[in-house]
Amino acid sequence: MLAPGSTIGILGGGQLGRMMAMSALQLGYKVIGFAPEGDNVAAAACSDFITADWDDTAALSDFAACCDVVTWEFENVPLGTVAALPQTLLACPSRALEVAQDRLNEKAFATSLGGTPAPYARIETEDDLSAALVRVGTPGILKTARDGYDGKGQWRVRSALEASGVRFPGVTCIYEGFVTYETEFSVILVRGADGSVKFWDSTANLHDGGMLTQSILPAGAMVEAQVPQARDLAAKVAESLGYVGVLTLEFFATREGPVFNEMAPRVHNSGHWTIEGAATSQFENHIRAICGLPLGGTATRFGSIEMRNIVGEDALRAHAILAEPGEPHLHLYGKREAREGRKMGHVTRVGHAIR
Ligand code: AMP
Repeated sequence: MLAPGSTIGILGGGQLGRMMAMSALQLGYKVIGFAPEGDNVAAAACSDFITADWDDTAALSDFAACCDVVTWEFENVPLGTVAALPQTLLACPSRALEVAQDRLNEKAFATSLGGTPAPYARIETEDDLSAALVRVGTPGILKTARDGYDGKGQWRVRSALEASGVRFPGVTCIYEGFVTYETEFSVILVRGADGSVKFWDSTANLHDGGMLTQSILPAGAMVEAQVPQARDLAAKVAESLGYVGVLTLEFFATREGPVFNEMAPRVHNSGHWTIEGAATSQFENHIRAICGLPLGGTATRFGSIEMRNIVGEDALRAHAILAEPGEPHLHLYGKREAREGRKMGHVTRVGHAIR
């Protein structure tokens, strides 16, 4: 066990790191962050924050010297950065990042453990793309294999007619058949170093333009029926990676069963509701897991819960949001610029308490 008072290092400086750091502080840990120049909103919750490029080995060794354990809040931390750290500091094997950083890898990995992704093809050339548009068919989505998030690096191909206008973007891509689904949902689990696993309830997740807008509980009968199979896959993924901490898998609930979309080796936007809505939040349990503390219960405490993201200039409406009915819990991430399409915060409303 890593005793409170020790220092947790977090790679990445976004809102997930900020909320993780807030939980770490509550448990009496110190936090040091590391990320390249940017709007590193986690820094406000860290006792120290190193701003340096991911390949700055001198800065990384200064960071490592301060840490008793290292975790990440961002799945695209370069593998070279993680490899440059003393491996004994890592709370979780870096293989989790390696798998999750590449959509082709994560789909192959989930398939090898019994998961079902959408039909897909690897795209390295213009010819691969032409063949995939025929073999996988339309509608579909072309996505860069790496570095995409919140719907960025994605191009929808609605029809065969549209397919003729699609060009290979010059980097390795995946072309996926478009899944007809009832609801999207995620499985979020926490796994301790001793291999024990706990799941939070799965919310129904609504997206707009590829970005999560809302997470809702209860998630509905179809999701509830498919959660056991989805959890089974998530537990196998966690186990086979030797995972420690919070892990998220995203699914489409279809008439044919859960279709695996992607995994995130970290706390997740669709788990923000757990701060007010669950016995223990995803952030606190992540910290407990990486420090070897007993995991907290994950039970949902209310009969209905809604988490909504605050995007762009919506963040300037704090007064109006807090005046809305239903005792909204507002979380703002302290980002400098309320750019369009940027996640600035979230608001959670909980319904009647479960006895
Ligand atoms: P991703 O970055 O892969 O999670 O994609 C972002 C969002 O785009 C998903 O949450 C879905 O709303 C949508 N999406 C992505 N891939 C597919 C697909 N193959 N079929 C249908 N919708 C998709």
